[in-house]
Amino acid sequence: EDRIISANLMMEDEVVEFSLRPRYLAEYIGQTQAKENLKIYIEAAKMRSEALDHVLLYGPPGLGKTTLSNIIANELGVNIRTTSGPAIERPGDLAAILTNLQQGDVLFIDEIHRLHRTVEEVLYPAMEDFALDIIIGKGPSARSVRLDLPPFTLIGATTRAGLLSAPLRDRFGVISRLEFYTVDELSYIVSRTCDILQVQIIGDASREIGMRSRGTPRIANRLLKRVRDFAQVKGDGIITVELARAALKHIQVDDLGLDEVDHKMLRAIITSFRGGPVGLDTIAATIGEESQTIEDVYEPYLLQIGFLQRTPRGRMVTNQAYTHLGLPIPEQG
Ligand code: ADP
Repeated sequence: EDRIISANLMMEDEVVEFSLRPRYLAEYIGQTQAKENLKIYIEAAKMRSEALDHVLLYGPPGLGKTTLSNIIANELGVNIRTTSGPAIERPGDLAAILTNLQQGDVLFIDEIHRLHRTVEEVLYPAMEDFALDIIIGKGPSARSVRLDLPPFTLIGATTRAGLLSAPLRDRFGVISRLEFYTVDELSYIVSRTCDILQVQIIGDASREIGMRSRGTPRIANRLLKRVRDFAQVKGDGIITVELARAALKHIQVDDLGLDEVDHKMLRAIITSFRGGPVGLDTIAATIGEESQTIEDVYEPYLLQIGFLQRTPRGRMVTNQAYTHLGLPIPEQG
């Protein structure tokens, strides 16, 4: 899936991603609430020379969970070990990772809601008591031995905290929700990226890109890179408002950052289901996307801008969405 506005990580992102990532809290734009709390917790942990409490970061993809985790480790002055839920196949894999941690280290588990059940169970005593219970032997002579682990900080990232099992969620001392970014914040991120990539951007062009980035830094950086290509080939390399507008129009991202799939989904609900309410699975089947993808990646922004509403009976398109699509608002009743 290679939609330009998709907040999921793409291959080419990863190359540049590294250099674009802010390294300290002070460089991390937005997320004021999360940042201010973390600052205090980090400071306190350092004063006590203890490991920071376990942190759960949740929110839609591309909002900066991985970035923030790296920053936390950096600010603590410890190593970070990065893995993801689906990558840890067996309990032994996790045990190997845990026993290799050093005092105070950060273990970052992305997509932590996708941990295998048996692996998750190894995490409970590890998080709670910094201990690893291993079974030695088989059958009636099997016994359990407890190994001590160095105190460490687990940082888990997930698109939705509700996907986590209760026992896992309860073991995080800090639970932080990342919010969509404002247009100002995104414009600033675009300018910052231009500085790093040494691209000239003038006038309100960074705002023009920020506006269409669906509240998401990863999308802002990606749109910028596409616009930069246009500036290079069709212009003199300088990104102006006009050029940004033309480029974004060409790649079919509208002035709110919605693309064909968003349009298709909203139109499907309007034409096939009279604007809803209609169940998520039905929408998914109608437009040929996965329910989970719609729920995690596409829908949050449409909910945020008030184009979609969640009701007990399903999703509903709002009047604002009709207006944006240039469709007549249906009569009530
Ligand atoms: P997530 O882990 O939530 O999917 P990432 O941490 O990978 O998101 O962030 C995606 C990209 O967006 C990063 O490479 C980084 O360049 C940029 N980014 C994210 N948050 C910020 C921020 N607060 N300030 C500046 N850039 C950011």
